[in-house]
Amino acid sequence: MTDMQRLSAARSHPYHHVRADGGCLASGRSPRRLIRTGTETKSRRMSSIAPTIPILIAPNPILKAKARPIGKEDDGLVRDLTAKMFASMYAAPGIGLAAPQVGQLLRLIVIDLMREEKSNPLVLINPEILDLSKEQATREEGCLSLPGQYADVTRAARCKVRYLDLAGEAQEVEAEGLLNACLQHEIDHLDGVLFVDHLSALKRSMIMRRLAKEQRLKRDDPKRR
Ligand SMILES: [Zn+2]
Repeated sequence: MTDMQRLSAARSHPYHHVRADGGCLASGRSPRRLIRTGTETKSRRMSSIAPTIPILIAPNPILKAKARPIGKEDDGLVRDLTAKMFASMYAAPGIGLAAPQVGQLLRLIVIDLMREEKSNPLVLINPEILDLSKEQATREEGCLSLPGQYADVTRAARCKVRYLDLAGEAQEVEAEGLLNACLQHEIDHLDGVLFVDHLSALKRSMIMRRLAKEQRLKRDDPKRR
């Protein structure tokens, strides 16, 4: 399959539009489009200064491990890591990234939903879920650690999360829709849980086999995307 064929196959994917305006994590926007928006935002400045760091691909034992809470002594490390995580997330492109995905077992998450191409970066340190609704919602999710893989995931429809911001101030956020799914997906990463762990064993193994095959093809032919 040529790149053009792959691109048109991706465009004709029935979930393409869902994904483009908000499947979790893999934003569906091309990096070029993000760069062309012309809005000089905080995130673009952050991403232009900080180097990117490689994102781990499943299966990797670090992605299955539990991350440790961040303490005051981690302040310098967290600031540096946050900037690099934003840079890596925007470059991917994606809308959320947890520290374990870049090999750091720390309870740190960055999110930017890029709604209407506008940046709204969110940093969550030591996030805790305070409340989950009984009502559930299903939404297609992807993950930068499972590139190219998507599946419908059912989770609580709303969540309430407490976290520390970069200034060390306690904050709370109540979310539904895309932000809700994204928060739960990212907090899962801190406990070694991937979106495929919410699926049946059969679906999970299908996705993991497909990912392994695609990664193998990519290694054999580096030009392949
Ligand atoms: Zn993920």
